[in-house]
Amino acid sequence: MSIKIGGADPHGRDTVSFFIILILLLCILSCLLYIMITTSPLIFNYDKNRVLYLCGTHGNECAPCDAFSRDNGESHIIVNPSACKINRRSYFFQKDINRSYDDNNILIPYIKNNKLIVDFHEAWGFKPPSLGKTIFVNKSAVNKYGLQMFQSLANIIQFTLVTTLPPIEKSLDYYCDQNDIPYVLVEIPGQNDILPRKYRVELTKYIVNYFETILG
Ligand SMILES: [Zn+2]
Repeated sequence: MSIKIGGADPHGRDTVSFFIILILLLCILSCLLYIMITTSPLIFNYDKNRVLYLCGTHGNECAPCDAFSRDNGESHIIVNPSACKINRRSYFFQKDINRSYDDNNILIPYIKNNKLIVDFHEAWGFKPPSLGKTIFVNKSAVNKYGLQMFQSLANIIQFTLVTTLPPIEKSLDYYCDQNDIPYVLVEIPGQNDILPRKYRVELTKYIVNYFETILG
């Protein structure tokens, strides 16, 4: 006659452990999938023959995205919509998108083929060391369009025009520089609402309209 000690069924316990681990794995996978889907960029009216506007790379710099409407037809990308929703520079567990531009970045096929990239960010101040009220134009854009077009815009909106920036590896301006892609960075002062949102949106609309009128 055999005697069961403690009355527990070791096989039953294994089955329960197996299901608990399975459920945990499924939860982790669902979370990863959710983050992957929600952090995908939103692409509107992409047309390689036009100017491509980028906004919302950093989630606490998203007012320029309000300048675009789906109906207006500008070719534009909201780079990090999920970070914009939570008003944080990056989404949870996400690395800084503007430090991750290499040939594997999913936006590269869009970045590489168009007239000009205009990349909207929002700085924390109005003058150095903040980049607020600054337009940076890279060498490729100057070679293609000349400096005057950008200088005139800077004069009208009273921004400082610069043609050099400290190189930050894997930033978009660095990638464009390395690959001879015409690129403009616009730094509107706006983080922490140092300027009213309405003003920042109107300023973005003005800049977009300027480029659409000349290059559209
Ligand atoms: Zn930024």
